[in-house]
Amino acid sequence: MVGVGNIYANEALFAAGIHPQAEAGQIDIERLTVLVSEVKQILAHAIKQGGTTLKDFTNADGKPGYFAQKLHVYGRGNETCTQCGNILSEIKLGQRTTVFCGLCQQR
Ligand SMILES: [Zn+2]
Repeated sequence: MVGVGNIYANEALFAAGIHPQAEAGQIDIERLTVLVSEVKQILAHAIKQGGTTLKDFTNADGKPGYFAQKLHVYGRGNETCTQCGNILSEIKLGQRTTVFCGLCQQR
């Protein structure tokens, strides 16, 4: 997802139930619509909480900052999914670490 911070991309894919390695052409239009609206909501929320840029917000430890309490997947690799209790998977896509739930994100 070009132009969207990795944290927000992780969260939006989770919210929309889309697998991070899904190819754009394989995602149906309904899922894409959900994804777009989730990205908007997540970014609007982040900005409201004090984020002034669309870049990832991290504190001095390199961990997600005050937005962290709201995160469902990012930074939670090998922890349990907030939706189904499955163990979250962590993969590298290029330089980015992506965390997702293999049960909730199958599309
Ligand atoms: Zn899950």
